[in-house]
Amino acid sequence: MRTIEDFTRPLEYLNPFTQSLASIVRDWAEKEVIPYRRQFDEDWEEHSLIYPSGRKLMAELGLQRLLFPEDLGGMGFGESDYAFSNMYILGEEMSRADSGMAVALGVGLWPLMSISLKPHINRRLLEEFAPMYCDSDEVIGGALCMTEPQGGSDIENVEFLKGSTIQTTAVRDGDEWVINGHKLWPSNTGGIADLMGVVCTTNPGSRDPDDVALIFVPGDAAGVTQSGPYEKAGMAADKNGDIWYENVRVPLWYRAHDPGKDALFFLDLISIGNGITLSFTTGVMMNVYERLTEFVNRKRYHGKLLKENDAVAGVLADYAATLEALRILGYQAARMLDRSDLYGERWSPQMMAKMRSYRYFTMDRCLEVTGKVMNLMEAFGSDRDWDIEKHWRDIKMNQLWLGGKQLCQIEAARWFFDCETL
Ligand SMILES: Cc1cc2nc3c(=O)[nH]c(=O)nc-3n(C[C@H](O)[C@H](O)[C@H](O)COP(=O)(O)OP(=O)(O)OC[C@H]3O[C@@H](n4cnc5c(N)ncnc54)[C@H](O)[C@@H]3O)c2cc1C
Repeated sequence: MRTIEDFTRPLEYLNPFTQSLASIVRDWAEKEVIPYRRQFDEDWEEHSLIYPSGRKLMAELGLQRLLFPEDLGGMGFGESDYAFSNMYILGEEMSRADSGMAVALGVGLWPLMSISLKPHINRRLLEEFAPMYCDSDEVIGGALCMTEPQGGSDIENVEFLKGSTIQTTAVRDGDEWVINGHKLWPSNTGGIADLMGVVCTTNPGSRDPDDVALIFVPGDAAGVTQSGPYEKAGMAADKNGDIWYENVRVPLWYRAHDPGKDALFFLDLISIGNGITLSFTTGVMMNVYERLTEFVNRKRYHGKLLKENDAVAGVLADYAATLEALRILGYQAARMLDRSDLYGERWSPQMMAKMRSYRYFTMDRCLEVTGKVMNLMEAFGSDRDWDIEKHWRDIKMNQLWLGGKQLCQIEAARWFFDCETL
């Protein structure tokens, strides 16, 4: 009998250490997530089941130490030449169990990627935040706060709008920044944000990249208010909410980098976010394959197993071929994020456009074949016992964040066709 192990993973990229981490994540998923995940939807507000599962992986097994240098108690992924190809497999394994869990735990590290990855390491800030992530018994709610009430796509459309629509302000006062503004939707908010990377402007309306600032703000800083979590279609493990900043003061050196650099490395985070979303998608597809295999090997029509029917074979083939191809694409995207010497800097217009193209292409294909699987399973496709409807609700969200599908298309068309007014 074939299994998910028969789909191709580019083994030449995955070092033995990461493969052993991936098997730890697989084991955690089997014991701590899969048996409970159907109850996660009802746990969206309390996280009484979700939180202990996350704590096991991130704090007890130590995955939240991933990006920090080894001499600060971390695992040193930030300086690795294989950081993204190795993170891809971890994202896939978590998502196979629950993509909301993968998003929440992965995004916990996302703001840190502005200061922990080659070539833009900020050692002083890593030293500041290492005890929080490396010595804690609790999951640290890390959040990257970009989206604002007037629209998230505009803020992320940095290449065209150059940060001119950002309304959260950072004003220098002596040796502190004073931050005012309102963000919506960041993962790991809804009351649980411990450390936020906040995208601000130092000069509202300006198109000068020097005025875009990425500033770290502790969740418990005076003047920070968080709403409770939103109730959404799926991904209950990922809490999202409103955050208000009212005269919040942080030291000047909590800015990730110098003027000009923050705008670039904000683009880097967007590029990485698009690339790593592919791992959440192919991880879900792995588990849909497993459940589908079980279904077509059990269900019979006219005395024959469902999978032995000619018409069904087309759906099965489309599913398998799509998963095989998307997975190769996803790992290649991760490898491209690792190899800026070959493919260009992660924040370059071509890499932004390519990562955005891969993400919307992957999401369209995934939703298309997963929808066909639901049709094939008919009523069982909607039955919670089979998990397909859960994955289908969850995975749709991968298409909605980071400026949604439309910004992906705009940036892809802009770069590949030299559009000037998009
Ligand atoms: C599960 C989840 C997790 C999230 N996590 C985070 C997070 O960690 N951090 C964070 O900051 N945000 C996060 N978000 C928010 C998300 O990034 C935004 O919702 C997204 O960027 C879109 O912004 P918006 O909802 O404000 O829609 P808008 O940007 O207002 O878009 C509304 C509509 O206008 C269209 N549109 C926008 N610009 C153009 C244009 N130039 N031309 C044509 N059409 C256009 C869009 O395609 C869309 O149809 C998350 C959202 C979800 C659902």
